[in-house]
Amino acid sequence: MQLDGKRVIVTGASRGIGRAIAIAMAKEGAAVLINYVSHGTEAQEVLREVQALGVAAALFQADVSRRDQVEAMFDAAWNEFGGIDCLINNAGIETIVPLTELTDEQWQRVSDVNARGPWLCSQVFARRLIAEARAGAIVNLGSVQAGVALPGRTHYAPTKRGLEALTANLACELAQHRVRVNCVHPGLIETDMTQWVMANPDILPQVLKGIPMARAGQPAEVAPAVVFLASDASSYITGQHIYVDGGMVIV
Ligand code: NAP
Repeated sequence: MQLDGKRVIVTGASRGIGRAIAIAMAKEGAAVLINYVSHGTEAQEVLREVQALGVAAALFQADVSRRDQVEAMFDAAWNEFGGIDCLINNAGIETIVPLTELTDEQWQRVSDVNARGPWLCSQVFARRLIAEARAGAIVNLGSVQAGVALPGRTHYAPTKRGLEALTANLACELAQHRVRVNCVHPGLIETDMTQWVMANPDILPQVLKGIPMARAGQPAEVAPAVVFLASDASSYITGQHIYVDGGMVIV
């Protein structure tokens, strides 16, 4: 299996894409730490699903934007698994708010979770890997919105554009320490985050017109790209981007 012997943290793994990644990782033999912040019942269900696949698993509640909580999560992972080989920065939030109505608090929260979170988790992870002279992999979950402008996303889109720069700069700085960093950009994927689009017959057809494959993707269709970039099958790939978007962004 692709991830035999690997130990993985998936942030925001209680629902949606993160949940699918956690399960796909476990199917490939990885020990998985499932992170969540508020949906404890859903996270417990993911824990049970992962454990049923016969791999080691743990659950940890932490806000990825809070240093004390992130440090505690990595402490728990080291105690539970003896270390971590792969970090999947999946946790993210999106709200749709016109520029003129956006509050400082809304801007700050999206920025804290989507931009500071991956930076903070990567820093804590990298410090530990470097201290132990161990190789590792980081996969960030970006978005097609890093490059596609839509109304109401002046807070969200910059965090995803920023993740492109974060991926490039982490990849550049950490290559000497044998830590690879790559990014997967989902398009329209059917999760709680996109429920408002999927359930809206006025909006959905418009959105689908912009997708050559003319359908939304499922979380399980994003996970294989993440597994590949976390695994040794991508051992000479760093600083790269994979779009999982039905052709929405074709460059
Ligand atoms: P989702 O269904 O809304 O799930 C979000 C996940 O992030 C949940 O597990 C949530 O935990 C977790 N989370 C939120 N804030 C957190 C925090 N402060 N600390 C730790 N965990 C936190 O979202 P999704 O659609 O699966 O999206 C996953 C990632 O893909 C995000 O980065 C998103 O921006 C990106 N993305 C999604 C789409 C799409 O179409 N769905 C498209 C492009 C990019 P709780 O359940 O505990 O709240």
